[in-house]
Amino acid sequence: MHKKINQLLKMADKNFPFSGFSSLAIHGGHEQDPKYAHLTPIYASSTYVFDEAEQGMRRFSGEEPGYIYARWGNPNLTEAEEKIAAMETFGVTDEFGQPLQVKGILHASGMAAISTLFLSTLKKGDKVLSHFSLYGGTQEMLNKILPPLGMDSVIVDLRDLNKAEESLKQHPDIRMIYLETPANPTIQCVDIEELSKLGKQYGKIIACDNTFATPYLQQPFRLGADFVIHSTTKFLNGHGTLIGGVCLGRDIDFMKSHATKIHRMLGGNSNGFDAFLLVNGMKTLEIRMERHCHNAMEVASFLETHPAVAQVNYNGLPSHPDYFVTMKQMKYPGAMLSFEMKGGLNAGISVMNKLKMCTRTVSLGTCDTLLCHPASMTHYSVPREDRIKYGITDGLIRMSVGMENIQDILNDLNQALQY
Ligand SMILES: *Cc1c(COP(=O)(O)O)cnc(C)c1O
Repeated sequence: MHKKINQLLKMADKNFPFSGFSSLAIHGGHEQDPKYAHLTPIYASSTYVFDEAEQGMRRFSGEEPGYIYARWGNPNLTEAEEKIAAMETFGVTDEFGQPLQVKGILHASGMAAISTLFLSTLKKGDKVLSHFSLYGGTQEMLNKILPPLGMDSVIVDLRDLNKAEESLKQHPDIRMIYLETPANPTIQCVDIEELSKLGKQYGKIIACDNTFATPYLQQPFRLGADFVIHSTTKFLNGHGTLIGGVCLGRDIDFMKSHATKIHRMLGGNSNGFDAFLLVNGMKTLEIRMERHCHNAMEVASFLETHPAVAQVNYNGLPSHPDYFVTMKQMKYPGAMLSFEMKGGLNAGISVMNKLKMCTRTVSLGTCDTLLCHPASMTHYSVPREDRIKYGITDGLIRMSVGMENIQDILNDLNQALQY
């Protein structure tokens, strides 16, 4: 009797239609633990056992679902993958009007997820079309790791759709259009829907790094993307406690076969502990992003009128060149911004050194406000002319606006900006 009720409850769980994003973020992907633990315990086990040799055969052949070896997956990884897939497709339908299904693979880092994406979709002779403002690691991947393998990139300003189309015509060997929006550190945004349409017209794959936005603010699959990438290290985890990444794809057969194969062979797997932290972090994504975005708007408005600041790059300000694209494709403009100090390098260093509450560090997406001065930190060893080409000027400070009470963030900035 008890067993029957439990089965009914489990069935009801599976079919319960979540009307809101947070309900899905909290419950999506969770399965009742066989030992009745409330949360999925951390599975710290490298391998999984078979009742008999025949079961091993069935699991290896895929005839019977079940875990085999933790590089290939474990229950913590599955829960995180399913939760992210559910969030990225929340309210999104496929071409038949049915709820869109996608498959995600959790990785050890955002870069591992990007490696699986490139190495599973590209072959020698293929090119990637992308925008010039990209995460540094992705840029190095395109510039240094892929070319010796025979995969080159074409980098243009993808905010100009004519230029994008020209490149597609000029380089028929472009296989993928790789987008990152909003992008680092200028917070430039590209139009996912228009570029997806264009890409489809020319038969290209569209991939989008959705790290800065998160699925709460922007859903690239809704706008036509074939693949979505995240560094789960950032807002998805939200607390700065792990390094992780995910690669999600619309073509489930491809994800389950070739992409899974490449992922397993490259060995960039996540682990039970990180996946556990990620699952718990993601439950509060909606409420965190609401606060992050509200604070970011206040900070941007404050900085815009400050006499020591030459320019504020925040895609939520009407003065930002990509304001309209932002408003079209994002729920709110996000929590990342950058600003340029009038006093250049010394002013940038001075602001960093005077911070009392906000944190001096790289990375982004944590509860606390993080500031980084690329010219003296991440890009210190990059020749000045090169970094300025990428918009990394001497007095540029990048900020990941946190969830502290806004008045404290403003007070800290206000005292640090006295120069
Ligand atoms: C951090 C980041 C990455 C790389 O992720 P890791 O988890 O550090 O490997 C990729 N893309 C963007 C936009 C990022 O911010």
